[in-house]
Amino acid sequence: MKKHNFYAGPSILSQYTIKNTADAIINFADMGLSILEISHRSKQFQAVVDEAVALVKELLEVPEGYSVLFLGGGASLQFAMAPMNFLNKKAAYLDTGVWASKAIKEAKLFGEVDVVASGKDSHYTVIPKDWTVPADVDYFHYTSNNTIYGTEIRKDPDVPVRMICDMSSDIFSRPVDVSKYDMIYAGAQKNLAPSGVTIIIVKDSALGHVDRVIPTMLKYQTHVDKGSMFNTPPVLPIYAALQTLKYYKSLGGVREIEKMDIAKAEKLYEAIDNSKMFVATVPGKEDRSIMNVCFVMKPEYKELEKTFVEFATERGMMGIKGHRDVGGFRASLYNALPMESVEALIACMNEFEGIYAK
Ligand SMILES: *Cc1c(COP(=O)(O)O)cnc(C)c1O
Repeated sequence: MKKHNFYAGPSILSQYTIKNTADAIINFADMGLSILEISHRSKQFQAVVDEAVALVKELLEVPEGYSVLFLGGGASLQFAMAPMNFLNKKAAYLDTGVWASKAIKEAKLFGEVDVVASGKDSHYTVIPKDWTVPADVDYFHYTSNNTIYGTEIRKDPDVPVRMICDMSSDIFSRPVDVSKYDMIYAGAQKNLAPSGVTIIIVKDSALGHVDRVIPTMLKYQTHVDKGSMFNTPPVLPIYAALQTLKYYKSLGGVREIEKMDIAKAEKLYEAIDNSKMFVATVPGKEDRSIMNVCFVMKPEYKELEKTFVEFATERGMMGIKGHRDVGGFRASLYNALPMESVEALIACMNEFEGIYAK
């Protein structure tokens, strides 16, 4: 039976990525050796890093004066590393969910944090709208896509200061005005590669303005100076990331990808909105994520949630159980997921309704 991969992360990768990565595990760059057993300083692997950096810059139209890094430690390390490198006195943060809250907690270790707004009262089903960022903060941090709650900010905010953004779960799903940001980071395992690497886009001239002592490994400047090769980088995830980046380019870049992503999400939200049984957890259309679609059973069908997960899994729908904080279901529609999988899920929902709807 064909499997449809809706996992939230780690999550679906293109067949191109999987196939080429598998091949490189056997024989990398015709070296007669596996990519798992060669030096990260070999000219063959240096070429992988160079090409990956160039493709990130090309796909996101990164302006001059920015560096692209591939580091370990996950997006979670960036929650601390960003304030360590950028927060002198005070920073502003928008609280839109679990990941944003974790970033806020770490920032507080390094200075004053102004939480400009929080979606907590709505259980993070609404993106707060009325907030302003004071002009005297070192930066404004937000999370563009809230993987757990299925909300998303798809437009680069207009604020009077430079921005830092956690784009872990929607990077490469839209064009970004990188020039508004001092730093963008994204753990790879949602839209790019297996876990183990974090992509960082940092403005070179924004570095070096904090007074504190920063350990060598936690300083962006170290990695900028050494081109992500200060220590051994996550070789295999970087190789896989390069394959995905090439695949994205072959699709026509992020503008084309965005159209496909929007089409997939619209189709699924429409099916949910028109259903007798299911209801989306995010009420406002403008707040709905095109990457993670969260939905639950209407109150009168609540007891059927477990049954539906089993029913869908038996039909090849993998990873649709909702996060424990939200319950119900979450279908992650990352870039590599084909429309065919969305259609299969909708067919499965319709079949279930046909059997169980009162
Ligand atoms: C998954 C995720 C993280 C955590 O990433 P790790 O690589 O596990 O540290 C952070 N932020 C967002 C938005 C995520 O989706």
